Amino acid sequence: MTKLSGKIALITGGSRGIGEAIVRRLSAEGATVYFTYNSSPDKASALAQELSAHAVQADVANADSVNNLIKTVLEHPANTAKRIDILVNNAGITKDTLVLRMSENDWDSVIDTNLKGAFLTSKAVCKPMMSQRAGKIINIGSIVGITGNAGQVNYAASKAGLIGLTKSFAKELSSRNILVNCVAPGYIDTDMTAKISDEQKKALQSSIPLGRTAQPSEIASVVAFLASDDASYITAQTIVVDGGLAA
Ligand code: NDP
Repeated sequence: MTKLSGKIALITGGSRGIGEAIVRRLSAEGATVYFTYNSSPDKASALAQELSAHAVQADVANADSVNNLIKTVLEHPANTAKRIDILVNNAGITKDTLVLRMSENDWDSVIDTNLKGAFLTSKAVCKPMMSQRAGKIINIGSIVGITGNAGQVNYAASKAGLIGLTKSFAKELSSRNILVNCVAPGYIDTDMTAKISDEQKKALQSSIPLGRTAQPSEIASVVAFLASDDASYITAQTIVVDGGLAA
């Protein structure tokens, strides 16, 4: 499993959940991996140590923080080629509630992290990727960005926005051989979905054709494919990985 040997990868929100699985998989595929955390430094440094990866604190919703992040990765001693070959925009949050109870802050913080965050990081890697004349950007969307979901007006809007952002970045950057795609997961077992009650989970599982929720590694494997040369003719796409839920 060394499809990504020699590649430099940056994953946002790599300290837990799907991001952690992507960090593990891209490391196993031979990439030199940088990943961000926001509020869990201990978990991030343990993971970095375990995998010989590199953890950097960053808030993706903040432009200065993102620009410092990209500078840190490009100038890091282990990044001798001063490249970023793969960017995975994974960092994301939820602030679920019914729309009548949803505050302006609930809206802003979810849009800022999930959508503006992907804009800021993608914009910041454009310059190095354009001069490399190669790059892969992979955005982690969600099936609810396609279907919508009650109680998630802010989150679904952020993830629907990511699909348009993906297509537009892909069209703007295609002449420089920068490929931009989105992966839209269904329900994955992480901290984000841990709040769902057992009863809700049972009902959910019965509505999924494959009859179960997924493990983070099942998203990481699709990201690893899109990041590899095997996906050299795929751009501007959203790949749904939901066990058939929305079909
Ligand atoms: P988790 O809540 O388990 O992890 C979220 C990650 O994002 C953490 O690493 C967290 O860092 C990081 N993060 C949060 N806010 C920021 C910020 N402002 N700046 C930088 N990093 C931040 O989430 P999941 O693993 O479940 O989700 C990962 C992605 O997958 C998200 O985009 C989510 O929307 C998407 N997704 C998840 C699904 C699911 O069922 N779980 C389904 C569909 C999509 P820290 O640990 O430091 O707080």
